Amino acid sequence: MANKVLDFLDKSKLELGPPGTAAAHHWRQAEDDGIVWLVLDCPDSPVNIVSEEVLTGLDAALRKLAETVPRALVIRSAKPGGFAAGADIDSFDRISGESAIRLLEQGHAVLDRLEALPCPTIAVIHGAALGAGFEIALACDHRIAIDGAKFAFPEVNLGLHPGLGGTFRLTGLIDPVEAMTLMLTGKSAHTQKAKKLGIVDIVTQERHVRAAVGAVVDGKIDPPAKGLKARAFALRKLRSLAAARMRAEAEKKAPPAHFPAPYALIDLWEIHGNDPEAMQKAEIASFAGLLDSETSRNLRRVFFLRRSLKKDGGGDDGISHVHVIGAGEMGAGIAGWAAIRGKRVTLGDISPEALARAIRQVAQICRDSHLNSIETRDALDRLMPDPKGYGYAGADLVIEAVPEDADLKAKIHREAGARMKPGAILATNTSSLALAELAKSVPDPARFAGLHFFNPVAKMQLVEIVSHDRTAPDTADRLAAFCASIDRLPAALRDYPGFLVNRALTPYLMEAMVLMDEGVPKVVIDRAALDFGMPMGPVTLADQVGLDICLDVAESLKSALDKPMPDISPRLREKVEAGETGKKAGRGFYDWSNGAPHPQATEAGPEDLQDRLILPMLDACMECLRMNVVRNADQVDGAMIFATGFAPFRGGPMHYARTRGFDRIRDRLAELADRHGERFRPDPGWDE
Ligand code: NAD
Repeated sequence: MANKVLDFLDKSKLELGPPGTAAAHHWRQAEDDGIVWLVLDCPDSPVNIVSEEVLTGLDAALRKLAETVPRALVIRSAKPGGFAAGADIDSFDRISGESAIRLLEQGHAVLDRLEALPCPTIAVIHGAALGAGFEIALACDHRIAIDGAKFAFPEVNLGLHPGLGGTFRLTGLIDPVEAMTLMLTGKSAHTQKAKKLGIVDIVTQERHVRAAVGAVVDGKIDPPAKGLKARAFALRKLRSLAAARMRAEAEKKAPPAHFPAPYALIDLWEIHGNDPEAMQKAEIASFAGLLDSETSRNLRRVFFLRRSLKKDGGGDDGISHVHVIGAGEMGAGIAGWAAIRGKRVTLGDISPEALARAIRQVAQICRDSHLNSIETRDALDRLMPDPKGYGYAGADLVIEAVPEDADLKAKIHREAGARMKPGAILATNTSSLALAELAKSVPDPARFAGLHFFNPVAKMQLVEIVSHDRTAPDTADRLAAFCASIDRLPAALRDYPGFLVNRALTPYLMEAMVLMDEGVPKVVIDRAALDFGMPMGPVTLADQVGLDICLDVAESLKSALDKPMPDISPRLREKVEAGETGKKAGRGFYDWSNGAPHPQATEAGPEDLQDRLILPMLDACMECLRMNVVRNADQVDGAMIFATGFAPFRGGPMHYARTRGFDRIRDRLAELADRHGERFRPDPGWDE
């Protein structure tokens, strides 16, 4: 940090907090011209996590400062990555009920003490201030953001709402509707938006921080003015009107039965929005209640599943240059994403038009990912179109993403093998071809594996890393590390028809088509899946994936698996033959010409509709476990959630099966098999 005060702080390590305790080591303090700088620096962690110790340390520092009040207090972070990543989620499982309320009250008392300090208090924020980190900043009188800072309350993704004063401090600071939107969606307010909303007083650069602090302390900066709107919402009637709109909006995405947190937050504000003290009490009670809810437990489970998948990519990938071959839908996405995340990328294709289209597609990904102009320029600089394939020779990793044609892939693999440097890895993005077969055409099978990205690459977090019998463990480990280094979640699997995700999803999609053939309307089918908590219904999903791709995968699975699969619907073939391949063609089962369909079912489906869709997915997951395609049930759950959005509040397919009872799942499948056919016959794994 190029700041004199912080240079000094880097060297000083003061003990704040009760001596000899863990709390003593989280904060550092220095004084400069009467201004006290309190710097958060959690030991042994690349980011600051607002734990109980952090708050205890802050409390000790504030108590001392209250005795000898400085000219001003500045709070900031010593971590290069950002201000603070939020609360210590690991601790949430250890507290509940009364103990949660007590802990929350203690935390609130610390931030109240910060708010009440009789001198200007200023938070200086670089990088992310999330959740509890944002709440510390909100308890200060002023906020100075360094360009690139962002603010968010992601608690809603954990089935919670802010619990350390965020609900009443943010609604008290800015337009309450904007504040509620941030809390209800979990979306970030990036620097300029934060300034516009009035979250921050000043935006500046690191080198001007001291001057900016001086200007605030000298009263030269007016705090953002409170708008008319904020004052109007002191009226209960107006809050009730806005709350009704918020509930209607929330219901579109998250029914209250599955996601209670947004509704609890709306209630809090509607009832107490003009009384911060009452809202504080209610926030504590509501947060403690949500902590104990099954939804929050399961969503916290999802958080830990993500962490565990990420850990699998913990090693060093040794990959700085990636050569991608095939600049279509997937190749462009993979190349662009890798370049955005810092890899040097060459991108080959036989078609110059495809290469030009790919570069445009990557520029769009940069915009969608909120990259600024410099980051976009750097990402595009790292990505080189390479029609002649010069990139093969220098690449540490070659990813093949040409069309799903075994002979074509074999040809490309042979060519790649001949041109790649020794030690480089060759990976294929195939979604359904057997790795063992493809491995026959590569010169070095030990350095060959599947690297199965999902579409769109920039949004879908999971990547399946598929090893065949001769893939060296080191190859799979490096690929996992590569995924982690480009911020994707690796799931290391064994070669199997459909791997894990397509193996599990295909029966779900095909059963939907069987149901349509039986006369159940598509909207009724989709609605049943949405009601279960899937992000989209199977008919919509099939259209989105592309009906041609669905047909390909279904045919290949049907021939490769011993288990009976649903018959391929004649309707699916007709659609593909007619070129109505789904979203990309503007028409599939749905008409996409006016955007995504919103299935509104007016009638109920058959009694067993939801189980007919969901249980085959669970059964396929069990089969993958039994066949050792995956390591364990947690890996299945993580992979299915991060690749398909499988109802996260249910904690994943295997967790859901465990909650419902393995025996009951098996019995229900047997019942469905008797009624509808052998494709439902339960996997032997349920008995083990
Ligand atoms: P695509 O048709 O969009 O792109 C393929 C690209 O490969 C085209 O640009 C084509 O010009 C190029 N190509 C063809 N022959 C070539 C050759 N000899 N040398 C160099 N380039 C050549 O296909 P896609 O959808 O990107 O799929 C690519 C792979 O990814 C397939 O194996 C597919 O199964 C898999 N996949 C696709 C999806 C998806 O949703 N599209 C998802 C996961 C995996």
